[in-house]
Amino acid sequence: MRIVALAGGIGGARFLRGLKNVIGPEDEITVIGNTGDDIHLFGLKVCPDLDTLMYTLGGGINEEQGWGRADETWSIKGEMKAYGVGPEWFGLGDRDFATHIVRTQMLAAGYPLSAVTEALCERWQPGVRLLPMSDDRVETHVRITTGDTSGSAAGSGTRAVHFQEYWVKLHAAVDAEAIIPVGADTAKPAPGVLEAIAAADVILLPPSNPVVSIGTVLAVPGIRQAVSSSPAPVVGLSPIVGGSPVRGMADKVLAAVGVETTAEAVALHYGSELLDGWLVDTADAASVAAVEAAGIACRAVPLLMSDAEATAAMARAALELAEQVRA
Ligand code: GDP
Ligand code: CA
Repeated sequence: MRIVALAGGIGGARFLRGLKNVIGPEDEITVIGNTGDDIHLFGLKVCPDLDTLMYTLGGGINEEQGWGRADETWSIKGEMKAYGVGPEWFGLGDRDFATHIVRTQMLAAGYPLSAVTEALCERWQPGVRLLPMSDDRVETHVRITTGDTSGSAAGSGTRAVHFQEYWVKLHAAVDAEAIIPVGADTAKPAPGVLEAIAAADVILLPPSNPVVSIGTVLAVPGIRQAVSSSPAPVVGLSPIVGGSPVRGMADKVLAAVGVETTAEAVALHYGSELLDGWLVDTADAASVAAVEAAGIACRAVPLLMSDAEATAAMARAALELAEQVRA
């Protein structure tokens, strides 16, 4: 069976680790990773979601944090600070730096991001084929209004900030007014992306952020169309449980696109043209009927990835629902 998943960072990576544990030796997983979170820092190209996927599936992740390397040290960060060179708000550890140096070197030598990602994965052996959504630069920006709204003083007024600045520096403490995937309209899917979707037997949307992770992947021209026109069943898992994101700021970015923070509203936001099946948490069992009424097969199962077994059970439930909607 050929499984394709569109994924962001932590939610996607943890789910995919569970999925790997329930598939057979003949099954293959292709992951199309969000690159809208990518950022240039210290002259280096950082791809947070691709790295979270690669480290989590390859056994190098810091488990507690959910991002960055295990057993990390922070000498470079301290040295940069001693030079007064920031930003200080983005955590790049020494081990992690090596990944960004290799990536930046290869990009400068002319390799596309997809080839660089493949090369990095030769070390990590994530057990999936990891593709960036695009080799072209796409950068998610968030429109916010801070301080006095006259716009005169620096740092106040309405402006667009990089998604990482919104999330990591500002902790999503101000409302997001709009989400702009800059560059997405002219980006091309990376080599292999449309082919993988076309050849898929099952397409999964893990419990990743529906706006700034999966929404960004779907914003690359051709990808949404390929997923919605695929004969393979498309099944998603809700990242919203009991009216809140399990972690992160999905509520803020959902509000920015006019979607309520509920499992049901996220299903309807994806819509029945895209989704054939949707899993909600047992806490949201009351929304099953409304999702089904919208033409999307829906089941309520435990959706908290509290340990490996719980996550594996979610993956099994997603594959079962895919078989049911296929039939
Ligand atoms: P990011 O790029 O690191 O933000 O990660 P993703 O976009 O892949 O995933 C973020 C989403 O995962 C958030 O909206 C969370 O609500 C969701 N999430 C995290 N842990 C869990 C979990 O255990 N269960 C469910 N259902 N969702 C989760
Ligand atoms: Ca992300």
